[in-house]
Amino acid sequence: MRPLLCGAQRAVLLLLLLLLPRRYRVVHGFSSPALCSRPSSAYIHIPFCKQRCFYCDFPIKVLGHGLASPSVQQTISKYVEALKTEMDITETRSNEEPKLLETVYVGGGTPSVLDPEHLEQILSRIDKKFGISKDAEISIEMDPGTFDKQKAASFKKLGFTRVSMGVQSFNERSLKACGRGHSVQEVYDGISSLRAAGFHDISMDLISGLPGETEKCFTHSLQSAVDLSPTHLSVYDLIIEDHTAFGRWFDPSSNVNKSPMKLPSLPGENLAGDFYTLSHDFLTSRGYEHYEISNYAKLDSSHPIDDDDVGIVSPFHSRHNTMYWDRRPFYGFGMGATSFTGGVRLARPRNLEAYLDWVANGIDPKQLTGWEEEDGSDSTWDTLVETFMVGLRTRRGVMDSCLRRDFGDTLVDEALKRLQPHVRNGLVEITGKGRIRLTAPRGFLYSNTVLVSLFK
Ligand code: SF4
Repeated sequence: MRPLLCGAQRAVLLLLLLLLPRRYRVVHGFSSPALCSRPSSAYIHIPFCKQRCFYCDFPIKVLGHGLASPSVQQTISKYVEALKTEMDITETRSNEEPKLLETVYVGGGTPSVLDPEHLEQILSRIDKKFGISKDAEISIEMDPGTFDKQKAASFKKLGFTRVSMGVQSFNERSLKACGRGHSVQEVYDGISSLRAAGFHDISMDLISGLPGETEKCFTHSLQSAVDLSPTHLSVYDLIIEDHTAFGRWFDPSSNVNKSPMKLPSLPGENLAGDFYTLSHDFLTSRGYEHYEISNYAKLDSSHPIDDDDVGIVSPFHSRHNTMYWDRRPFYGFGMGATSFTGGVRLARPRNLEAYLDWVANGIDPKQLTGWEEEDGSDSTWDTLVETFMVGLRTRRGVMDSCLRRDFGDTLVDEALKRLQPHVRNGLVEITGKGRIRLTAPRGFLYSNTVLVSLFK
């Protein structure tokens, strides 16, 4: 539904890829007791979209607009069956206290193209297999133009508690310029359907830096979003990925524009930082907490003051994404999904046929969970760096004491030595309680510069 990292983090993403697994392979990471415990989160990937947006390189299957056709419905049903099989054969450790799922995230792709009946089958199966806690956060990504009031009400009845809506822009021309399959009016209709269905926890995704976008257009999108009062906003900078339509048409470094439809040019790399700072200033001055590099959560007067040195904290942080940033284990199901269990990351095939084959022709259940790899002792510099990479994405950052417990004084002292120049130049701060974090917005904006200094 959205870019994984904002444009300013592109270098960091490339470096992170060095640490993460290639698809089809497992990678063995540091196995702290927490990582080896049974996951309490699950991600389920629904790869179907009506069309491919020009910037998107996500693992998806384009269905076209004939969603109701028997062949499309057959493809969806086959996929849902494969997901259920994958859940069935994923092992849980019998000698461990059962742990209910606290977060379930149905992402894509466009999960809202599915019928409620298919989603019901998926949620029932995961509940039967792993158990879902009664106060779990159960999120679904939904795109404008793929649901109406009735469908939204059915999704609510299934137990979804939170919706993440792919809005991207409130400018009609920008939506067309990036190949989105919906209009601005469909965004308003979608929000009104969700509210009528009883959804209160609604997040919206926006993208900055779309072709032809000016600060004025982008401010209009931010203002329109805030006027709808979502509990959460994710604002991503447009990333030009090689294997996308935008990758073929645009070269951000030389400002080349080969788009066949004569799209306006990209705003230019220099504006990316301006858009980032604009989002921060605009949203924090309108009651949103900038709690992660690309994420904002709504505050109100009833919110508690955190008991340590973080400050006022919104209850609308994404609980599911916080689990990733805390580097906790999670199940992953479906085409292109990654799981992180028993200290092992496993990335599934990114192509539909390959994924269906993989499920049908013998997944090794142990490979799916990685329990056999657990040894609880492999503390490494790379894993420490990965912990910084995910932890520093949030304003909570990482705690010095936790790092020392997990990695020992020598490695942590070395990391702090490397971060010292960034403490002096105001990108990193270390609080009195030993919380190491990036400053906002400047440290967030230059997080790649900070993280690169940790690589040997
Ligand atoms: S809706 Fe667009 S951006 Fe989202 S997954 Fe589908 S093609 Fe990609």
